[in-house]
Amino acid sequence: MHVCVLGAGITGLSTAYELTQRGHRVTVVDRAVPAAGASGGNGAQLSYDYVQPLADPGIWAQLPKLLLSPSSALKIRPQWDMHQWTWVLQFLRACNAQQSQQTTSQLLTLAAQSREVFDALRARENIACDFSASGKLVLFRSDASFAAARQQMVLQKQLGGAAQSAVTAAEACAIEPALVHHREPFSGAIYTESECAADCKKVCEALARILTARGIDLRLGQDFKRWVTSGNQVTAVGLGDGEEITADAFVLCTGHTVAALAASAGVRLPVYPLKGYSITVATDGQGLAPQVSITDSARKIVFARLGQRLRAAGMVELVGQDALVQARQIQTLQQATQALFPDCSRYADIQPWAGMRPATPTGLPIIGRQATGPSNLFINAGQGALGFTLAFGSAVQLANSLS
Ligand SMILES: Cc1cc2nc3c(=O)[nH]c(=O)nc-3n(C[C@H](O)[C@H](O)[C@H](O)COP(=O)(O)OP(=O)(O)OC[C@H]3O[C@@H](n4cnc5c(N)ncnc54)[C@H](O)[C@@H]3O)c2cc1C
Repeated sequence: MHVCVLGAGITGLSTAYELTQRGHRVTVVDRAVPAAGASGGNGAQLSYDYVQPLADPGIWAQLPKLLLSPSSALKIRPQWDMHQWTWVLQFLRACNAQQSQQTTSQLLTLAAQSREVFDALRARENIACDFSASGKLVLFRSDASFAAARQQMVLQKQLGGAAQSAVTAAEACAIEPALVHHREPFSGAIYTESECAADCKKVCEALARILTARGIDLRLGQDFKRWVTSGNQVTAVGLGDGEEITADAFVLCTGHTVAALAASAGVRLPVYPLKGYSITVATDGQGLAPQVSITDSARKIVFARLGQRLRAAGMVELVGQDALVQARQIQTLQQATQALFPDCSRYADIQPWAGMRPATPTGLPIIGRQATGPSNLFINAGQGALGFTLAFGSAVQLANSLS
């Protein structure tokens, strides 16, 4: 079968890889280059066992502070856009214990499959991507948030997740000595020894090279313009240069733009962009840089070691399609990184970045053919804040839905 995959982020490229493994002929189309979207500078954490969904009942108690505090990690700029309002209402509706538990269970299963597939792929293809398996500490600054996290830990264990432990601040510093310099106290942490980290952009670039060497048609710098249909089938996609790519099946993996592209084919998808930022600094300080991935839950900032670099990523903004890198947010990320790891870098050369998480209200991705729309149009999108973690399992599920 000839499959046209739209989008060369981690979702599109892992899907294209899985499809070629199964003997399909594949064309990949992207308006820019591999990893030009959210996959280019994300938090780099492979969070296979700590999958707490954003839509959590705990949000209700945090909401006033999240909306009103000037230092809040959440920002909403209301738009004249029904899609934004509908998404927010659906998200709030999903913030209940039953949905959160159901989402956690499904994410754990998908993440476990992803780990297995990505481990096998790295072993097979020898991908250099600053991969590490140093574990993760999620830090909590209040006793209440630490207590809620311990409950989530018990739930994840009941649902088949890996071993995790609740540790004191002193124990967390023993696990990751770079934390001893932190300037702000925390109540405790959840430690997951099995978590990993890697550079998602390097994985995308490696996959693009491997796929090109296998002879797949990689069309970069080609904007999607329109669907060409016949009956209830897509026969081709029209590109910016006027060319049409024909195929037997089409897979939409365009991250946060997926809702608009799917809508033009008659498919409604609840995917909204949640903007975030990252900085990458060289670990060239005199002191310690962390090896273990760290999540500062109060600030909603994640840290991951990538070779001789440290990546810090965070913030959640509902600001429509505004992709501008805001200097103030970059400064906030830098201050938070320096507060936790004052000596890990000279902080002289900071690489700023912003990207959009393609998020569904529940946090569950949308994979496969939808009830409406053309019969040969497939979706692989909406992996949200866990898109790197879930990419390889999602690719397998998408490929299963094609056959
Ligand atoms: C700040 C931040 C931190 C994050 N941290 C983590 C983390 O630690 N761990 C984790 O697992 N996940 C994390 N994520 C989430 C993860 O980065 C995303 O879920 C994932 O990268 C989405 O991949 P994708 O391929 O679906 O989308 P993208 O990477 O956005 O790729 C979509 C591609 O489609 C192309 N495209 C879009 N529209 C068109 C069009 N009209 N025509 C042609 N091409 C088009 C784009 O050019 C792009 O290359 C984070 C995200 C952000 C923003």
